[in-house]
Amino acid sequence: MLIGAHVGVADGYPAAVDYAASVGCEALQMFVKNPRQWRGAVPDAAATTLFASARRTRGIGYVVTHTAYLINLGSEDPTLWERSWRALADELWRASLYGADATVTHIGTNRGGDLRRGAARVSEAIARALDVAASPVRLLLENTAGAGTTFGSTPEEIGAVLREAGPLHRARLGVCLDTCHAHAAGYDLSIPSGWDDLLDGFERHADPARIEVVHANDSVFPCGSRHDRHAWVGEGTIGRQGFARLFAEDRLADATVIVEMPGEVPEKDLVNISALRQLREACGAPGF
Ligand SMILES: [Zn+2]
Ligand SMILES: [Zn+2]
Repeated sequence: MLIGAHVGVADGYPAAVDYAASVGCEALQMFVKNPRQWRGAVPDAAATTLFASARRTRGIGYVVTHTAYLINLGSEDPTLWERSWRALADELWRASLYGADATVTHIGTNRGGDLRRGAARVSEAIARALDVAASPVRLLLENTAGAGTTFGSTPEEIGAVLREAGPLHRARLGVCLDTCHAHAAGYDLSIPSGWDDLLDGFERHADPARIEVVHANDSVFPCGSRHDRHAWVGEGTIGRQGFARLFAEDRLADATVIVEMPGEVPEKDLVNISALRQLREACGAPGF
């Protein structure tokens, strides 16, 4: 299991790789445009090439990009829905320019509440984005904390989207499991039975091998709170033992682990990455 962090790109993409390496990342996550806007500047060809070569020389084994927060693949507003799948296609295209392995997206909402109808609308948006982008980058659907009408807080909801997608599109889809979100959604990841509930749910509704990225965030709020607030590894309501279980879980052995932490750089990344590396070593899980 490679370990890395979500890194900022304010100083440019090659500098983001240097930063990632300096805090011990074996993998990294980044935005490929401003996540709070629909539009983005055309990526600079020199920067994408430099990023790809820096990534190789710095030994970053896995790169995942994260889509903009505005995207809502389940929107019932046809204008916003189309804007969302077009924006997703744009994200996949941008990710391919940087040679990313995968792109993580939040799914959006399901206001009507009907599982099948919501999943069908989302998977139609995904199919259009994948077809338009024609990008080799894999698309990972992230679980949510389950606030309001957000879609994707359970393996059942994510599995429904995968099922509706059909085999051709499904082959290009995976899952990003955020531990803070799952804990907030009611899976108590501080104890082994909570991990079992969650992963058994994936066995039933979606293959756990589809979980390609784990966002290893601890949670400020208790299990079931439905509040999404990340805490440093071991300092939240999941705790060190909860994260030890992550590395002991065979079904997640091929996943890449990424932290998305509040706080100041570089301390937040140095501390959390080293905490996770210690837990990985203690478990004897294969690393870099
Ligand atoms: Zn996340
Ligand atoms: Zn979150």
